[in-house]
Amino acid sequence: AKKQRIDKVLSHIGVGSRSDIRKQAKQGLILVNGTVVKDSGFHVDPYADKIEVGGEVVTYREFIYLMMNKPPGVLSATEDKRDRTVLDLLKHEYAQFEPFPVGRLDKDTVGLLLITNDGKLAHELLSPRKHVPKTYEATIEGDVDSDDVAAFAAGVELEDGYVTLPAHLTILGRERGSKVISHISLIITEGKFHQVKRMFQAVGKKVTFLKRVSMGELKLDESLPLGACRELTLEELALLG
Ligand code: URA
Repeated sequence: AKKQRIDKVLSHIGVGSRSDIRKQAKQGLILVNGTVVKDSGFHVDPYADKIEVGGEVVTYREFIYLMMNKPPGVLSATEDKRDRTVLDLLKHEYAQFEPFPVGRLDKDTVGLLLITNDGKLAHELLSPRKHVPKTYEATIEGDVDSDDVAAFAAGVELEDGYVTLPAHLTILGRERGSKVISHISLIITEGKFHQVKRMFQAVGKKVTFLKRVSMGELKLDESLPLGACRELTLEELALLG
């Protein structure tokens, strides 16, 4: 692998700031392949060289992959003047990786959100040409019926004239009170702004709750509390291709 400055390598994985690392190096606390390195500009191969800080071997990695169960009321953006963002919910130990959410969920939408610093993977998952399927579960005000299933399978025309790609709508159940409420799941293979809400709007119905449960082969870990996140397992990462 490419050689990089040891202060850059160590700060990337959260050992400390570059100036922290310079101090530690001066104090003789940093070893590379068993030899003390006092120059924090020393170049190392972060994967091949054995790096020790204060007697502990450190393991380098360039990328992190986090799955969040996004709670309602936070933005899936990296920063915002007024609102909290999903990045504000991350543990500080992840900050130096400079992760960002892959795609957008609306402020009130909950569920699966991938957060990573792997731009190439993000690009592939979001590429309109790849048609990565995304599964949502939703509560709909109105009686979702087989006509809607057929309309979504054929493609519906949104208010701006765009006709959606075929989508797979499944009716999970209905509640009959003063108003009919439907529970559905929907698989779409594109990601237009407010797509699910606008598709139901196109058939005269309203989404009152929206949750993403999968993206490609990756499924939301339902044991994750809202607002929590964890790193993907190697198996999950492999599912993303
Ligand atoms: N469709 C929507 O309308 N909102 C989301 O957050 C995701 C998909």
